[in-house]
Amino acid sequence: MSNKIAHLDSLQFNVAGLLTGPKGGTRSYKLYIPVSELDQLDEGFDVVAPFEGTARFLWTNDHIMVRVTGHATVALQCSRCLEPFEQVVSIHIEEAFIPTVDMATGLPIQRDESDAAILIDEHHILDLSEIIRQSILLALPLTPVCSPDCKGLCPVCGANLNHETCSCTTETTDPRWSALSILLDDLDRDADQPQ
Ligand SMILES: [Zn+2]
Ligand SMILES: [Zn+2]
Repeated sequence: MSNKIAHLDSLQFNVAGLLTGPKGGTRSYKLYIPVSELDQLDEGFDVVAPFEGTARFLWTNDHIMVRVTGHATVALQCSRCLEPFEQVVSIHIEEAFIPTVDMATGLPIQRDESDAAILIDEHHILDLSEIIRQSILLALPLTPVCSPDCKGLCPVCGANLNHETCSCTTETTDPRWSALSILLDDLDRDADQPQ
């Protein structure tokens, strides 16, 4: 059993040593995954700083329990003012990875198809890419805002109200309400039509 902490810059780990070791064996790593590696995740998000965190593996004699915590920095666009900004998202993952090869015999392990665990490949490589990609995706805000008090864009002239004021801002009617009132007028008119 080894508890020395290795610093790793890759999302792929060779876990042959852990798999051949005794039940209860653990490995702990400090993760520092460069942007170049994260860029290969084929994301749907844009990572702009290295992923920093820790990974801990526990071998149960059936699977490796993986716990990853850390944070990633992603570039987002504010849903109110449309300006780009960066946000740090926290990642907490616990996932079971199961071997596909019996280390003692070298033979493939038959697995139940319904087993939801993630596979360790035949070269004993445990790949964190997919669970990190998914957890970053899940951690992204649905409606990103550059700051909680972002004033957004003027709906009339499009001015960024964080940086400037415009003459339209004195208007008291929210344009969303005027859109609604037009709709209601239409409904009223429809209702008035003789059938
Ligand atoms: Zn904003
Ligand atoms: Zn305006």
